[in-house]
Amino acid sequence: MSETTMPPPVTPGTPAARKLSICVFCGARPGLSPLGPPVAEAVGAALGLRGHRLVYGAGGVGLMGSLARGALRAGAEVTGIIPPSLLEIERPLLEPGQRLVVTEDMFERKRLMIDQADAFIALPGGYGTLDEILEVVSLSYLGECPKPITLLNVDGIFDNLFALFADIHRRGFTRGGPPLFHVSATVDEALDHIESRLAAGMLGAA
Ligand code: AMP
Repeated sequence: MSETTMPPPVTPGTPAARKLSICVFCGARPGLSPLGPPVAEAVGAALGLRGHRLVYGAGGVGLMGSLARGALRAGAEVTGIIPPSLLEIERPLLEPGQRLVVTEDMFERKRLMIDQADAFIALPGGYGTLDEILEVVSLSYLGECPKPITLLNVDGIFDNLFALFADIHRRGFTRGGPPLFHVSATVDEALDHIESRLAAGMLGAA
């Protein structure tokens, strides 16, 4: 793993009571919905305004790029984590304020993203985003990742995933129990949920 540290941003946001590291999973493509890029940008901006740190996959393209630009403009501290194989494809933004961590491989990337986070937000995306969501949800199911997870259901992107989860439960492949993740309809709802769960010393449930 190697690191490039850029100077901190000059425009600070309004700090929240506690600075959180929030890992956001989202697509390396913008998707076809016109809502995706502005919502991703708004998530980044809200992290900056609330004084939190963004941890993400470092991509400068797709929803990841919108997210990072929103965060950097709002003065958020940003950590992008990426393996060498994706540097050319996902083209990290080389902007002041982003700390770039280059990992050995995809597995180290995902582990670092999860380890560094206090909480997770999922936005629309493709296979990579689904993999990351299932990683943290399944770890949470096993009790190995007691950190809040909220899925921002932009344009109903996760509706079919929720139906699949309900179906595998009906088929007897998952046990009941406390919810493993939270579903939010707005950016503020997602962040309010995370802040309130962590302020309450939340452990073990979404
Ligand atoms: P996608 O949602 O497919 O656009 O991918 C979103 C991010 O997840 C991109 O940075 C991908 O490089 C990354 N990604 C793709 N496959 C995986 C995987 N198996 N595990 C973790 N991250 C992945």
